[in-house]
Amino acid sequence: MTAAQVIAYIGIGSNLGDARSNAQQAILQLAQLPDTRLTAQSSLFRTAPIDADGDDYINAVARIETQLPAQQLLQALQAIERAFGRERPYANAPRTLDLDILLYGQQKIISDALIVPHPRLTQRAFALIPLLQIDPLIAIPGLGPAHGFAPGVAGQAICKI
Ligand code: ADP
Ligand code: MG
Repeated sequence: MTAAQVIAYIGIGSNLGDARSNAQQAILQLAQLPDTRLTAQSSLFRTAPIDADGDDYINAVARIETQLPAQQLLQALQAIERAFGRERPYANAPRTLDLDILLYGQQKIISDALIVPHPRLTQRAFALIPLLQIDPLIAIPGLGPAHGFAPGVAGQAICKI
């Protein structure tokens, strides 16, 4: 029996090394995940770090259709992060690559390793704006239309590149 296909949205961020290349290459890696298809990708965006130091970020969001269970998807994303030399010296440290599960179907997940919808999705322009570029009418489970949160992040500088 094949597992159900789930539509998931992955937030991509980099502000260490060649951030633009890291983000682009990461999207290609998402397309290579087992039992997964890349179905949309946002533009790349430049954003200023929030509660963090280091260079500006390059951010994007990818939409995938996957049969991987959420926990397995997270592990696969962390393996890609490691392949890009991701280190975690301290919270919010500059990173070669950050891959976060923003949405996983309609599911709400709260476990030690995984919280979905991503808790900062509605508060961060770098996640919300690329998501809305892909799917302007997307709803966040339990919270309603994502575009309803856009005014709340309007003060955060974000620039399509
Ligand atoms: P950041 O919060 O800045 O993305 P990390 O990438 O270092 O920080 O992730 C820290 C932890 O967040 C990971 O070990 C992972 O288990 C957990 N986590 C919880 N929810 C999610 C999610 N939706 N997507 C990715 N990681 C998550
Ligand atoms: Mg992360």
